[in-house]
Amino acid sequence: MQRTIGCGLLAVAIACPGLAAGPAEPNPQIAAVVAAISAQRIEARIAKLASFHTRHTLSETNSETRGIGAARRWIKAELDHCSEASGGRLKVAFDAYVEPPGRRIPQAVEIVNVVAVLPGAQAGPLDRYYVVSGHYDSRATDVMDAKGQAPGANDDASGVAAVMEMACVMAAQRFDATLVFMAVAGEEQGLLGAKHWAEQAEKLGLPLAGMITNDIIGSSTGADGKRDNRSVRLFANGLPALLTAQSGATSDAFAQRARAELKAIAQSGGEFDTPTHQLGRYLKEIGERYLPGFTVHLIPRPDRFLRGGDHLPFLERGYAAVRFTEPAEDYRHQHQDVRREGGVQFGDLPEFVDPAYVAQVTRINAAGLAALALAPAPPREVGIEVGELENDTTLRWRANAEPDLAGYRILWRDPGEATWTHALDVGKLTRHTLKGISKDNFVFGVAALDHDGNASPASFPRPLRPE
Ligand SMILES: [Zn+2]
Repeated sequence: MQRTIGCGLLAVAIACPGLAAGPAEPNPQIAAVVAAISAQRIEARIAKLASFHTRHTLSETNSETRGIGAARRWIKAELDHCSEASGGRLKVAFDAYVEPPGRRIPQAVEIVNVVAVLPGAQAGPLDRYYVVSGHYDSRATDVMDAKGQAPGANDDASGVAAVMEMACVMAAQRFDATLVFMAVAGEEQGLLGAKHWAEQAEKLGLPLAGMITNDIIGSSTGADGKRDNRSVRLFANGLPALLTAQSGATSDAFAQRARAELKAIAQSGGEFDTPTHQLGRYLKEIGERYLPGFTVHLIPRPDRFLRGGDHLPFLERGYAAVRFTEPAEDYRHQHQDVRREGGVQFGDLPEFVDPAYVAQVTRINAAGLAALALAPAPPREVGIEVGELENDTTLRWRANAEPDLAGYRILWRDPGEATWTHALDVGKLTRHTLKGISKDNFVFGVAALDHDGNASPASFPRPLRPE
């Protein structure tokens, strides 16, 4: 039995690494975006966000220097300024609604997201949306305390500063897909702002192809004092959301889709190949290519145990959604009143944030987002033919419609591998047979390529009868 085929042994396969998402040479546009990310601007924005005393969702909104109202007006003004400075294509707006009283909302309150949209060049039916978010609300020890100091430098001014920096750096660039940069509110009160935006996206039928939240990406030092400024965790697993849909917790349309997905997964061993897993795998591969020496730890869970984030309302609606978080959290500086106790400083203060590290995580995000937005959409209706007993693998898929489409890449890996290990570019076909490579022994994917070498995330093939 043929167990594995090394990259170098496969004459027609492209060089490893850099399998799924493009050639080994960096795309100059992506490299320029990554190079433009500034730790100094990120540091200044985290300091400013931490200066509003609190950004609690229920805090005051009339002051110009304190509370969540001042914070969101400042975020919007910054993004407006970046838009003006880069030709005005970045559309910045408040996305506001009134949240009725609920578990962590004692009286009705206006929740306001700050949303900056950079329209893609491939408008109409080819348009896709990618969302990147951080939450700008903050909290103290008591989640209902709207008055106490809550600087939220790491949770989550770090994520907001990352999103603002990406919006400002990418605003002057052109991408095929539409990018949405969001600073959301109400996260600590129950993921409210993100839930609202995801609900609207579902209602409007936005072609949302992926969502990334950055929450607590600020510290390279763990509670044990150990420093790790060369890695980040990426939580990516779309399977639990499919199971939740099964129980009827979400829309009928998604529940129906989820049943079909789960069936295909159960029949073919696709537990680690949902669109969310593919997004995670892609972000790891692209990020590590553009930031050599930095590691993205891909963790196949929706989030840390007992925790949640703004990607969850997206996952629950069937969208691919993932979360970046620092490698080792220090809970003395998270959801804590600012105070000294037994010689220990508690509180989420800027002094415990490492802006150079936040900039590295921002570069990982920016490389992935730029690559996603330049590449074609992942191929659709990808199937693996299961008509007869044989040792070959035949894949087929529907043709992509992008005008700059160059062809397709078949990817595969041993089932125990986290990322793709083999790749074969097959040109502008919609069916291909891998001779002597058994579909029973590997996991497969198909990606779409454009003329500049940009590749989409992979699509997992469903078992299909031959046509
Ligand atoms: Zn948070």
